[in-house]
Amino acid sequence: MNNEVRVRFAPSPTGALHIGGIRTALYNYLFAKKNNGKFILRIEDTDRSRFVSGAEEYISEALSWSGIEPDESPSKGGEFGPYKQSERKGIYSKHVQRLLDDDNAYYAFDTPEELTAMRERLQAAKVDSPQYNGITRMQMQNSLTLSKDEVSKRLESGDPYVVRLKVPVKEEIRLKDMVRGWVMVHSSAIDDKVLMKSDGMPTYHLANVVDDHLMKITHVIRGEEWLPSAPLHVLLYRYLGWEDSMPQFAHLPLLLKPNGNGKLSKRDGDKLGFPVFPISGQFPGKDGAPELFSGFREAGYLADAFINFLALLGWNPGTDEELFSMSELIEAFSIERIGKSGAKFDIDKAKWFNQQYLKSRSGDELTGHLSKHIKAEHIQYNEEKLSQICDVLKERVEFPQELWVEGLFFFVRPQEYDEKVISKKWNEAVVQVLTKFAERLNKLPNVTADQVKDIFFLVLEELGVKMGQVMQSLRIALTGKGSGPDLMAVMSILGPAETAERIKIAIDNIPIKIEQ
Ligand code: GLU
Repeated sequence: MNNEVRVRFAPSPTGALHIGGIRTALYNYLFAKKNNGKFILRIEDTDRSRFVSGAEEYISEALSWSGIEPDESPSKGGEFGPYKQSERKGIYSKHVQRLLDDDNAYYAFDTPEELTAMRERLQAAKVDSPQYNGITRMQMQNSLTLSKDEVSKRLESGDPYVVRLKVPVKEEIRLKDMVRGWVMVHSSAIDDKVLMKSDGMPTYHLANVVDDHLMKITHVIRGEEWLPSAPLHVLLYRYLGWEDSMPQFAHLPLLLKPNGNGKLSKRDGDKLGFPVFPISGQFPGKDGAPELFSGFREAGYLADAFINFLALLGWNPGTDEELFSMSELIEAFSIERIGKSGAKFDIDKAKWFNQQYLKSRSGDELTGHLSKHIKAEHIQYNEEKLSQICDVLKERVEFPQELWVEGLFFFVRPQEYDEKVISKKWNEAVVQVLTKFAERLNKLPNVTADQVKDIFFLVLEELGVKMGQVMQSLRIALTGKGSGPDLMAVMSILGPAETAERIKIAIDNIPIKIEQ
């Protein structure tokens, strides 16, 4: 089992998970399953100042709704747990000690005021991005500048400190990214990142690398925003002696605004009226006030449509094929087909997918969307009819919640009739046909659904009226509206008695318009 592919999705519980995060999870999942490997969920919650209560539950629910089930996770456990970093606190110190012992890390005692003064000094000297790095560290309060005795004294007396990585001054750091190819960064562009604080809590960089190593992660597939951190991670693997088993990296392209102009944000969704989160939730916003995050699930997207849509935002199968179930995605997925450039978000495409998946559902699978309303309204209807109704309506809707609105006329007789159609179509000849049709239906109470159709055509023939002259009026009588699903199917579902009754009510209520 040495070569087993092991990937992880490592979100921080800082609020709602953007769909970009779900896409990262999805690509990890697909890659793992394609390679008979393991997909791990690890919660990176070492930064307690950004911790948001309920966010971890949100992440689990969003993954579960999306059909992305981890093989190992905080709730499921596994051989390499715990899978929540705050529960792994004791694990990191010995690795930090190794870095300190090998002179690849150092203690820094600078106070916040001293750090601010350093930044201001550099800014005044026109340094673009002031950093604690190979040059500035020699002017600060740390174990590189203070005597050994002084350092021990400060540590013993409990002075607050951090441990920083000692980034080499002149070195080129290279890493091969599976999406981008070779990436080269000069060490002067990297600052001496804090690895651990005096309370023993590691920072993201340290915990991430240590855990990826200990959890035997083989591939790190994550968002492009982490690419600048990757060289730092390479240094950590090197200094910890793990470079030989370092995971391979794949940094995913950004999800862009619909116009391609920058990263897709919650604000774009709010402004343009679509969700950018998988499921709804409420978390503190930037100013701390509760903010509502609307979700794809609540907007009526089917999970498989959502996943299909998301999979194609940044990856392509190399063919024109667009519809993929999860197992088909697993079969087709490869990192080589992930694009380098950002993927433009297109909500119309998401709706298109939803419609395709709705259409492919059987009537039976959709009845739940109607039965909850039926129950609430105390309407009597059998499951078989509901299923037939869903079957005729599913072609006409993008979202399941539209089934009820679109199909309301099946359950409630029309209360009004579309005036525009009546004024043009409702005439003497029409009323004659409809009257005769209704009478026939009443005379033959046991007529089957299919026979209703035949009787209608027979009446038309007898009266010498063309179908086109009557169809819309018949639709008005039965549904109140000028358009809708196939009328023959509507009559077959309503049945002969109800069809006849609705026609009678319409004739009684709609005055005849004189034809010019
Ligand atoms: N905790 C990081 C995040 O919130 C994980 C980045 C990574 O995958 O290395 O996205």
